[in-house]
Amino acid sequence: MSIVAFIELAEGAIKKTSLEAVAFARAMADKEGTNVTAVAMGSADESALAEAGKYGAAKVLHVSDSRLDKGVIQAYASALHQVMESEGANTMILAKSSLGDPVAARVSIKLGASLASNVTELPDTSAGFKVKRSIYTGKAFAISEMTGDKKIIAIKKNAIALEEGGSPCGVEAFSASIDDQFGTKITGEDKQTGDILLPEADLVVSGGRGLKGPENWGMIEDLAKELGAATGCSKPVSDMDWRPHHEHVGQTGVKVAPSLYIAVGISGAIQHLAGVNSSKYIVVINKDPEAPFFKAADYGIVGDAFEVVPKLTEAIKAAK
Ligand code: FAD
Repeated sequence: MSIVAFIELAEGAIKKTSLEAVAFARAMADKEGTNVTAVAMGSADESALAEAGKYGAAKVLHVSDSRLDKGVIQAYASALHQVMESEGANTMILAKSSLGDPVAARVSIKLGASLASNVTELPDTSAGFKVKRSIYTGKAFAISEMTGDKKIIAIKKNAIALEEGGSPCGVEAFSASIDDQFGTKITGEDKQTGDILLPEADLVVSGGRGLKGPENWGMIEDLAKELGAATGCSKPVSDMDWRPHHEHVGQTGVKVAPSLYIAVGISGAIQHLAGVNSSKYIVVINKDPEAPFFKAADYGIVGDAFEVVPKLTEAIKAAK
């Protein structure tokens, strides 16, 4: 009875958050003495899917129906339900995301499974089955008890450390019967552009109102380019059209979980912090030593961004 890990793809590769779902499932499977079956939907390269093996999947089931390319949530839930039944699986792990959450809810109804989302670490099975969940946009944790045999767990970014351990695994086609009558049609897609996509980025350089205007973003882009980072911004910056809305980080924007988040001229309001508090390291550059962001920072530079950022970029260039 394997544990199923649902994997999402972006630009033909497995998303980092989904590799974390595979690793999380692997850690649970090791305790239970079972295997991990990863499941991917839509058009994808077999070699890209096989990468799940490196993080602990014994095999990948690929539901390649092209209707799944369009992201109709009900279709994903229907196919995943069929995989769970066919594998006799009781547990599904997936990444918490705008796709993962609604899919998890629908599969849990179909299976009669308990569901926990935003889970931050492996379950505690010493007495019952308890999971730790991040709540109130990361300001508190809840311990929830999951009951029943069937469980669905949507994990928060960085819930487990990613370590490449195994080798690529086999990929098998899975034929799911997918109904067309879901009452939802995707009529168009507006894709985020850019070399490095913000939600998936491992390094982020973000700017706030302290940069004074859109004409000053060149130094943020230069620093991001040197680091191979994505660019982000605070909400007012995108509200004023200094930067595109898909770069807006925070409670009402993109939630990021990079290894390194560099915040330049951003005050650190709670709504902004809600989108960055899963980052491993936070570096804050602000001319005001009392800026609240410093309380959340691992490293802080008190200084004028217009002096500090170009120097930092030069130093990184020189170090390279
Ligand atoms: P400011 O608060 O104006 O801060 C600018 C900072 O730049 C200051 O700390 C200043 O010291 C510094 N600075 C100025 N000049 C320089 C310089 N030369 N060098 C270095 N530093 C300098 N905000 C978000 O970001 N994301 C959200 O998702 C979000 N959601 C919200 C939801 C709600 C319901 C509400 C009410 C607000 C939300 N906000 C959100 C807005 C949030 O409350 C703050 O107003 C916003 O984050 C402030 O943006 P900022 O830090 O860029 O600007």
